[in-house]
Amino acid sequence: MARISARVSSISPSATLAVDATAKALKAAGRDIIGFGAGEPDFPTPEHIVAAAEKACRDPRMHHYTPTGGLPELREAIAEKTRRDSGLEVDAAQVLVTNGGKQAVYEAFAALLDPGDEVLVPAPYWTTYPESIALAGGVTVAVAAGPETGYRVTVEDLEAARTPRTKVLLFVSPSNPTGAVYPPDEVAAIGRWAAESGLWVLTDEIYEHLVYGEARFSSMPVQVPEIADRCVVVNGVAKTYAMTGWRVGWLIGPRDVVTAAANLQSHATSNVANVSQAAALAAVTGPLDAVREMRTAFDRRRVAMHGVLAAVPGVECPLPEGAFYCFPSLANLLGRDIRGTRSETSVDLAAFALEQVGVAVVPGEAFGAPGCFRLSYALGDADLAEGVQRLAGLLQEAG
Ligand code: PMP
Repeated sequence: MARISARVSSISPSATLAVDATAKALKAAGRDIIGFGAGEPDFPTPEHIVAAAEKACRDPRMHHYTPTGGLPELREAIAEKTRRDSGLEVDAAQVLVTNGGKQAVYEAFAALLDPGDEVLVPAPYWTTYPESIALAGGVTVAVAAGPETGYRVTVEDLEAARTPRTKVLLFVSPSNPTGAVYPPDEVAAIGRWAAESGLWVLTDEIYEHLVYGEARFSSMPVQVPEIADRCVVVNGVAKTYAMTGWRVGWLIGPRDVVTAAANLQSHATSNVANVSQAAALAAVTGPLDAVREMRTAFDRRRVAMHGVLAAVPGVECPLPEGAFYCFPSLANLLGRDIRGTRSETSVDLAAFALEQVGVAVVPGEAFGAPGCFRLSYALGDADLAEGVQRLAGLLQEAG
């Protein structure tokens, strides 16, 4: 008998965390490394949120188990915040507080999928979706969209991939890894198609506040109320409030799904750490000033990074409209000579860039999009400018 089960040994380690770890290890060893791998804001958590957590530490109620579904006042506040930010009307019983958006994704798929059920996942995709689908026994059906369409899929693309086994559509806008934001009419068209096709939708709204320029966030169950009874919304405090380390997310859905997911969570992890929930309560009931400031910084860095990358001959890089990632395609540069080396894949080219110019990026293979790189622009302006110049300089040497 195998030591490790087939189900778990098929899981790949998170490539994004691996790039970040390699970059940090090289840095610790004294190399001059600029890392574009991190998927988190580089700002500290706002002070009023930290203060609420400090206070919670001293409250004996926070020292004990609390309901699996979340502190009642936090569930209430999340329902209220959802009405405020996306316009979706929900009540507290439809909210399940989870250990980050990640656990919400995992639990939603576990609650919805039977073995063999198919999930349509627009590619490039965030690496956690296919892994959590597979763990639930489901099958990922990737629906590819390239840089020429701004990495956005259409109803026609989705319909072509639908089969009698399709149960769920995964939807994320703004997107990790591409930064794509679907305009409201496209969200509505896709939502109507899902409703008419009898599909469920898992919509990941974790980057709702990080949109730039003319782009607008819109929530699918608000655009298409008919889908609400078969729709699970995933969200969390990680990206909006620079709170990745606090591990608080949530899912919102029909009551039967929320109950099923809460039952699963009651045996897996119970309640989310109470101090973190108290911090999340301060976040979602407090002002959005800090996120406005972060958004301004991200927007400036987005424009700076995109400008340099898009100017490299052979690189195709749509201007990202949300989240904090650029997703250039380097397909035209693969197999070409750079400093006597021909990189045939984006994995090889990423390793070469790290070695030659000390720049760490995540290769597109991690996101179901070989030939591309993902670069986070959630880092300081000076490092960003230096790192992106180094990378562009190297790529410009392609013969
Ligand atoms: N959804 C998307 C699209 C993400 O990029 C992330 C974080 N990388 C998450 C969900 C989960 O975030 P967390 O678990 O930190 O709340």
